Amino acid sequence: MLSIAERVRRGLDQIQPYVPGITDDEIRKMYGLRRIVKLNSNENALGPSPKALEAIRAELETLHLYPDGGSGRLREAVAAFHQVSADHVIAGNGSDNLIKLLSETFLQPGDEVVVPFPSFSQYNFGAQVMQADIVSVPLRPDFTYDVEALAGAVTARTKLVYACSPNNPTGTILKADEAKWLLDHLPEHVMLLLDLAYNDYTERPDRVRETADLLQDPRVVCLHTFSKLYGLAGLRIGYALAHPDVWNYVHRLREPFNVNRLAQRAAAAALQDEAHRQASVKHAAACRAFYLERTAEIGLEAIAPEGNFILVKTGDGRKTVQELMKLGVMVRAGFAGLDEYVRITYGLEEDNEACIEALAQVKGAL
Ligand SMILES: *Cc1c(COP(=O)(O)O)cnc(C)c1O
Repeated sequence: MLSIAERVRRGLDQIQPYVPGITDDEIRKMYGLRRIVKLNSNENALGPSPKALEAIRAELETLHLYPDGGSGRLREAVAAFHQVSADHVIAGNGSDNLIKLLSETFLQPGDEVVVPFPSFSQYNFGAQVMQADIVSVPLRPDFTYDVEALAGAVTARTKLVYACSPNNPTGTILKADEAKWLLDHLPEHVMLLLDLAYNDYTERPDRVRETADLLQDPRVVCLHTFSKLYGLAGLRIGYALAHPDVWNYVHRLREPFNVNRLAQRAAAAALQDEAHRQASVKHAAACRAFYLERTAEIGLEAIAPEGNFILVKTGDGRKTVQELMKLGVMVRAGFAGLDEYVRITYGLEEDNEACIEALAQVKGAL
């Protein structure tokens, strides 16, 4: 009999299943803790948009019905928000879903994908699924984008170039003029995928933006999520903007009902929730100031240009995670190329205090 390993399609041996980290419940049991401070996944400390919760409650009675497969009302809402037409918009089961769909749409084995390093791991996942080769281009030593290096890594086999702004986990932005430079210097056959998951956290005037002008270029795709600023990570909902011709092909691979009813309604409502959005942006700004001041006080270097998280240099990121865990504080480490750092998501005031206290306590042992 053939083994399963001999039956599955080629290339799967190279892909490892996503290993979720230890859960807060497991940590609570393991160390006999009452409360866990969860600052490891860039979730919104303020919780979901109240308007989204209201929309979900109103939608519960119709859960026996299939969702709108085309996410029509949500796409209209996104289009109005960004002042583009609805045929420029696609919705996905999280932007992870859209990254995979775009990979399936554009990549074949042997193609190349240029990704910044360090950055979000799902770009590599999409490439691996399609057996494309990943070409990692380091950020500059100060973690800013090196667009010349990104363009310089392009070959005749390159299909996609990614840029994440603000970048997870470094928080650095791709500036609008850098994006323009990049587009001017990328050859015709290369698409530029801009992941703007944290872009609405920043008010920097020089940030890249998904303007109608930018989206006129059929090589540009802008990815967005409701998981961060809008506080809907558990619902799985993201969207992307691009020329309608891009979506014409992505729709051929998309599952017919890839976004559930609750997610469609909640996301459309969250977009209208200006108060929640502004509170989230303000909260992140206050936390940034807090962490920069307090990490300096305890003698730790930190980087927090933009986004809802900060990168703190502790010397040994993984060990820091382990030590903080014993104190009931969850942060994230293990980013390739950033062994010395942990990433801390901004939490509520008492959680941030607890995190700083725990850091001060474990610092000597790292
Ligand atoms: C969190 C995050 C996303 C969002 O993914 P979802 O699947 O929408 O939850 C996308 N890109 C980056 C860079 C992120 O950090």
